Amino acid sequence: MKAHDGMYIGGAWRPAAGPDVIEVVNPADEQVIATVPAGTAEDVDAAVRAARAAFPARAATPPAERAARLAALRDVLQARKDEIAETVTAELGSPLAFSQAVHAAVPIAVAASYADLAATYAFEEKAGTSTVHHEPVGVVGAITPWNYPLHQIVAKVAPALAAGCTIVLKPAEDTPLTARLFAEAVHEAGVPAGVFNLVTGLGPVAGQALAEHPGTDMVSFTGSTAVGKRIGAIAGGAVKRVALELGGKSANVILPSADLARAVNVGVANVMSNSGQTCSAWTRMLVHRDQYDRAVELAAAAAAKYGDRIGPLVNAKQQARVRGYIEKGLAEGARLVAGGPDAPRERGYFVSPTVFADVTPEMTIAQEEIFGPVLSVLRYEDEEDALRIANGTVYGLAGAVWAGDEAEAVAFARRMDTGQVDINGGRFNPLAPFGGYKQSGVGRELGTHGLAEYLQTKSLQF
Ligand code: NAD
Repeated sequence: MKAHDGMYIGGAWRPAAGPDVIEVVNPADEQVIATVPAGTAEDVDAAVRAARAAFPARAATPPAERAARLAALRDVLQARKDEIAETVTAELGSPLAFSQAVHAAVPIAVAASYADLAATYAFEEKAGTSTVHHEPVGVVGAITPWNYPLHQIVAKVAPALAAGCTIVLKPAEDTPLTARLFAEAVHEAGVPAGVFNLVTGLGPVAGQALAEHPGTDMVSFTGSTAVGKRIGAIAGGAVKRVALELGGKSANVILPSADLARAVNVGVANVMSNSGQTCSAWTRMLVHRDQYDRAVELAAAAAAKYGDRIGPLVNAKQQARVRGYIEKGLAEGARLVAGGPDAPRERGYFVSPTVFADVTPEMTIAQEEIFGPVLSVLRYEDEEDALRIANGTVYGLAGAVWAGDEAEAVAFARRMDTGQVDINGGRFNPLAPFGGYKQSGVGRELGTHGLAEYLQTKSLQF
């Protein structure tokens, strides 16, 4: 057990204002592995002041210099990738191979993309007789969740750094060690003092203080829709810029011409990876009635294969919540074909990979975000029915379409009310804008669209 001190503020680790700490628990064995300070409004205030003080010089820094710092940050993350993967595994519980391949590797790719974009983005353009300057928004309060602990941080901090903003980060209480490691990496990369600051703490205390602080010009939040609505209201009340990346309930639409086995297997893998704790996971699989029984069989077999290879959920509360949803699915008449509500191990917050068949669109498990390894397989009659079901939730974050012909899949995807769709499997692209339609959010992350969130325009007329 390691007791960590301090907050990273103004380029140095400083003692926290109060004595309270947050215990960090390894969800695989329920052991407390560390403590970090639970920041208060006073810590947040010190961090925002440091960010404010650093802003004028930062905003005046040439893009080439910002690009050089981002390239250095990418290199530090690369050099420390094993430590990152081990830290994520220790506090989130994901299997080490997944932590290496995704939790450590993706943020390196995203940091690299912003090193390139900072160097090449048109921060100045012509519009008729005017010159338009794209200037940094100011001090950004970034609030992140635990499910992809480093990715969610880098997806905010890297574009904010590229834009010339200064930042105060409040990471999730379950995964503060990854955030501390990131602060060390920023320091090592030579980012000037005060440009990036870290305050660990509880959401309703430190998170709320950051969102409400009059010294922040923007709040960038990733997390639940419930908290996102509050953050949006706070930002609206103060006329601050806001970006919200919220929940999802994405549809995986398998059209009759698709390679059914591949679509089902990739679909199950998508839901089970990270133990189902992925906002963009395709948790509703939509299959034509003629192929339904075969798809259910394939999905049950694929889920059973995961068995012991799946990691735990992040904490006891999340485990109880997911098991509650499985009970609810049973109570509402869905047919369990893999997994179930019983905890598969005595220790650790594990939930078995679970598949429900005969799920109808209005059931709770087809409407609400479960955030665990639970897949619902729904039957559709024809394409219009599939579209109605796919679009029939309050969310619109991601999705997938499978068809024999790419053009057929694209035509369907264009009618989906969602921010990102993978065609016949797709591939992760760090330059593709990511974000939600409807209650899945406001704004976009990644690529040039993610950078634009942190910029405001000034036009000069001649
Ligand atoms: P959460 O909303 O409980 O917490 C997210 C962050 O907000 C944490 O840092 C938390 O401390 C903070 N917070 C909590 N209450 C707050 C308050 N009153 N004021 C300010 N900050 C507060 O979400 P979570 O359980 O950590 O994460 C899971 C959720 O995140 C899921 O709903 C998931 O879909 C969503 N998510 C969305 C995306 C996306 O890009 N759209 C990505 C990952 C996760």
